Amino acid sequence: MDERVKIQFMILNTDILKEKFGKNLIIKENLSKYSWFNLGGPADIFFRPENKDQLIKFLDVIKKDNLKIYILGAGSNTLIRDSGVKGVVIKLGSKFSNIKLLEKDKIEVGASTLDRKVSDFAKNNNIGGMEFLSCIPGSIGGSIIMNSGCYGSDISKILISIKIINEKGQEKEIKKDEIRFFYRGTDIPKNYIVLSAVLKGIASSKQLIERKQEKLIEKKKESQPSQIKTGGSTFKNSNGKKAWMLIKESGCDKLYIGDAKISEKHCNFFVNGGKAKTADIEKLINKVKKEVLNKTGVDLELEIKIIGDEK
Ligand SMILES: Cc1cc2nc3c(=O)[nH]c(=O)nc-3n(C[C@H](O)[C@H](O)[C@H](O)COP(=O)(O)OP(=O)(O)OC[C@H]3O[C@@H](n4cnc5c(N)ncnc54)[C@H](O)[C@@H]3O)c2cc1C
Repeated sequence: MDERVKIQFMILNTDILKEKFGKNLIIKENLSKYSWFNLGGPADIFFRPENKDQLIKFLDVIKKDNLKIYILGAGSNTLIRDSGVKGVVIKLGSKFSNIKLLEKDKIEVGASTLDRKVSDFAKNNNIGGMEFLSCIPGSIGGSIIMNSGCYGSDISKILISIKIINEKGQEKEIKKDEIRFFYRGTDIPKNYIVLSAVLKGIASSKQLIERKQEKLIEKKKESQPSQIKTGGSTFKNSNGKKAWMLIKESGCDKLYIGDAKISEKHCNFFVNGGKAKTADIEKLINKVKKEVLNKTGVDLELEIKIIGDEK
């Protein structure tokens, strides 16, 4: 079925969907409030499952329509296009944000739990090695997909296993060894929804962990902007060369398009100054990419994810 026909079909069936999933399903939900950039148009269907069973039921109901499905975590690494998302956006709700102590150095964490909360839980249970999570504004699901990290640590170093659900609603446990992790990414298939993860740290003391956390947070504050509408690092570093250095070397650090700007504090952070559109941010991204390629020969790769339709 053609994508537009499929969408029409779904819209006609939205009453049925609303009846089945009530307040957890919203038609034409504006996505800007779910992204750190504070940008983006509506999703045809926005679903925030109450729990795993409801998620499985939803996937079963929509499977015949073969719609595109996007998963949103905390939206701290995602730029959503102005015309929104033609298809389904799933955002795991608060029922997926539980944390459980399994052993003295091992915890199980729901995918929508914020990294910062995981770091604090670990601290309160004398588990070290998760301090870096206090510097990442995402959720555990997003951090696993992105293999997020900073200051020499990343999530692959503390991961034991994940539980996922595929688009057919089948649940599966995947051990860390079965996943290929690389710099800011993994080979976890796009249609897998991460439900939870088991993480392992090292026995430590609350005081030591707290000091380490504070040091890292301070370091971050010194080098990166806060309280701005951004997705963090826009481009990945390339062959040991920092993306921000390449941007600066190419004379792009002061470029802007409308209200789409580059942070004065960290020129790999692209910012919505308040009135930007996603199209402005995207134009700025493309301009910087082209300039850096011309001036340095490096073809920068995006770290942020751009979702939605071009028009
Ligand atoms: C101010 C700022 C500072 C940052 N600093 C860092 C840093 O130091 N290091 C770093 O690595 N990153 C950093 N980031 C980027 C970002 O915070 C991380 O990539 C984060 O882990 C993304 O998590 P999220 O939940 O926000 O993901 P989202 O942006 O919501 O999604 C990112 C990707 O993960 C997928 N995804 C999310 N949840 C799930 C799930 N449950 N199942 C399957 N797929 C899922 C999405 O489909 C998408 O492909 C920063 C961002 C900001 C805004």
